[in-house]
Amino acid sequence: MSESYVDLHCHSTASDGTLSPTEVARLARSSDLSGFALTDHDTIAGVAEAAEEATTLGLDFIPGIEISCEFPAPGTMHLLGYGIDPHSEDLKNLTRQLLEGRDNRNPRIISRLNELGLDISMAEVEQEAGGTVIGRPHIAAILLRKGYVHSIKQAFNVYLAPGGSAYFDKERVTAADAISLIHKAGGLVVMAHPVQLRTSNSAELEQVVRNLVELGLAGIEVIHSDHNGADIELFESLAKKYNLLTTGGSDFHGSTKKDIKLGRAAGRRIPRAYFDRLAERINSTHAAQR
Ligand code: AMP
Ligand code: ZN
Ligand code: FE
Ligand code: FE
Repeated sequence: MSESYVDLHCHSTASDGTLSPTEVARLARSSDLSGFALTDHDTIAGVAEAAEEATTLGLDFIPGIEISCEFPAPGTMHLLGYGIDPHSEDLKNLTRQLLEGRDNRNPRIISRLNELGLDISMAEVEQEAGGTVIGRPHIAAILLRKGYVHSIKQAFNVYLAPGGSAYFDKERVTAADAISLIHKAGGLVVMAHPVQLRTSNSAELEQVVRNLVELGLAGIEVIHSDHNGADIELFESLAKKYNLLTTGGSDFHGSTKKDIKLGRAAGRRIPRAYFDRLAERINSTHAAQR
């Protein structure tokens, strides 16, 4: 039998991706993946549609979410929640809180851009986002279209990223709260792209992992577009040491991150075994909760 591959980290128009959940599922199919998980920022609004199209196409699917947690700069901590119950009240409370954080931040970014002499309005940003979660990539896309920058990357470097002239942070949840709410919603928690924590050495990274393990972390994203071979080896060894699942994904966003292809992460593919072990753990967790 030929090898089978998956993608456990991707975004749709429900957050800041440029393909609809249906289109992501179709791309997964045409990219020869056998399964995928949708992990939009701060929302599960896309998972029902993705699940439906996945079923139509004969693909396996895991519902997911990606949550930005409090973490000291310049690092960022993103946690992936998998297998969450879409009807959970705890999850709804969490996503509401996260969206409020964005609603408080986004107008500040736009006012600052206006002060800097750039012509951009919240109405345009809302239109760009299409009624869903508004993220900085939507703002970046408008700046690019209007010719204020020549790339999305430049929009971040000059304006939107930490150190940029229109950077504002959003209120975040603590990792402890995110993990406890994902658990209450029946989900498992995986630490996304550990390189983005920007810990200064592997001992510091291990301490972060250990703290999360105490809070119930189930896995660590080993393969990711930002990870090189040495990163992958380090994260695999940590996973082994703390008995964590290993997962992987491209962090596909569509045309705002043109270099990232669905099902590919820095030249690698993501083995089907990652999907199966994750799905198995989700099923046993749900069975235990029943
Ligand atoms: P937000 O959710 O509004 O905080 O924006 C986060 C999104 O912006 C994620 O999809 C990130 O991958 C993307 N992002 C963050 N920093 C950069 C950067 N320097 N260049 C391009 N995209 C970025
Ligand atoms: Zn994103
Ligand atoms: Fe992320
Ligand atoms: Fe992501």
